[in-house]
Amino acid sequence: MERVLIRDLKAHVGEEVVIAGWVDVRRDQGKMVFFDFRDRSGMVQGVVLPKSEAIEVAKDTRQESVVAITGKVNARPEKNVQADRQNGDIELEVLHIEVLNAAETLPFDISGDTSGIDESVRLEHRYLDLRSARMQKNMKVRSEFIRRCREFLFGNDFTEIETPLLTESTPEGSRDFVVPSRLNPGKFYALPQSPQQYKQLLMTAGFERYFQIARAVRDEDLRADRGFEHTQVDIEMSFVNMEEVMNTVEAMITKTVEDMGYTIKEKPFPRISYKDAMEKYGADKFDLRTEEEKEKGILAYAWVVNFPFFEKTDDGKWTFTHNPFSMPIPEHLEWLMKGENIGDILTTQYDLVCNGYESGGGSIRAHRAEILEATYKIMGYSKEEMENSVGHMLKAFTYGTPPHGGIALGVERNIMNLTSESMLREVQAFPMTRGGQTSVMKAPKPLMKKQLDELSIEVKKAQK
Ligand code: ASP
Repeated sequence: MERVLIRDLKAHVGEEVVIAGWVDVRRDQGKMVFFDFRDRSGMVQGVVLPKSEAIEVAKDTRQESVVAITGKVNARPEKNVQADRQNGDIELEVLHIEVLNAAETLPFDISGDTSGIDESVRLEHRYLDLRSARMQKNMKVRSEFIRRCREFLFGNDFTEIETPLLTESTPEGSRDFVVPSRLNPGKFYALPQSPQQYKQLLMTAGFERYFQIARAVRDEDLRADRGFEHTQVDIEMSFVNMEEVMNTVEAMITKTVEDMGYTIKEKPFPRISYKDAMEKYGADKFDLRTEEEKEKGILAYAWVVNFPFFEKTDDGKWTFTHNPFSMPIPEHLEWLMKGENIGDILTTQYDLVCNGYESGGGSIRAHRAEILEATYKIMGYSKEEMENSVGHMLKAFTYGTPPHGGIALGVERNIMNLTSESMLREVQAFPMTRGGQTSVMKAPKPLMKKQLDELSIEVKKAQK
């Protein structure tokens, strides 16, 4: 018999069916045994009657075991109907239980909220944690958000293009994760902090509208809303100004979250300058919701614009605040080119803020070599250092690169807002611990001598 999904059982009242899934709960009442069975589509109550041939097996079948159940779908008598529950008006009379995989007693209870359980225990058994209703929901919200963004972008003439994972160390502002090269002893790749340069090169390549659901890897100190790895909805567009990128992203976010059933506080999204935001909220990310709106799960988006392009480092040099590849606002281009009024130059950066988080950011880019050179000159790069760092970009810009700009939306921060989670790891399937330990598997760990030799690497000082 073909497996029926639990959500479809209603259509089979009076029939014998087979379902397959997990034992969510077992209630042994002596003569009879009750179960809640769970599959990806939902939950149904099963009952094993005293005369059933399944009664012995039923008494032995532990919670979270995987079973295939042959049973008869019965309508519940009126007085037993639980109108507020899925399948509250039916019941599966269990005729036969096939245990496909028996479960040992779980290391922790997954029937409620698992967020209070010790992090290392949760992450060591993440595949169990992910079975909990809350984590199932979070992963599904994440999948749906990405699907809807994709659909919007495909519907608006974007092309999805993947960019390399093994790439060159780039000046994105954080520490790189590096990968040794076996074929080039002593040389290293870096994992991408973002596809920034490749997506700009795709504009040079004439794709005009690019997107990618991209992984970004940064060796930063871990925080509640920050991990080593995160995912971005990464977008780049040719022949656009700030307005056009912001409007496209605003339309995508609005359609995506409203179609998912959420309410947006204010449309179009309010826009505020960095200066005003700092004066009003003391930060460039802020929460515009009232307490009541917070309870209702309302989303309050806003754009922050007119950020300073440069800031001083501790050693008195200028560095970029957001993105070295940005264009200044048109009124300040001359200052940038001449290296004047550096602290006053504003960049075309736009940040999307939602409920207190920076949920995205991007800018219009310098698409002419002399503009990017002027930025690097302000940051104190010599011609040679510039060549070494962004020579390939400067070169590409000499072969017909259209004006372009883009943005990256942080998937996790967006999902945190949609699910009201305050920890990044609650919206990633296999996150790391606070100490940078992988879920389930045991990275980072030492390499074997043979591997190190192959890579021409000698470990100077093993940690602890
Ligand atoms: N590459 C930038 C980032 O990852 C986003 C962008 O400007 O598109 O933050």
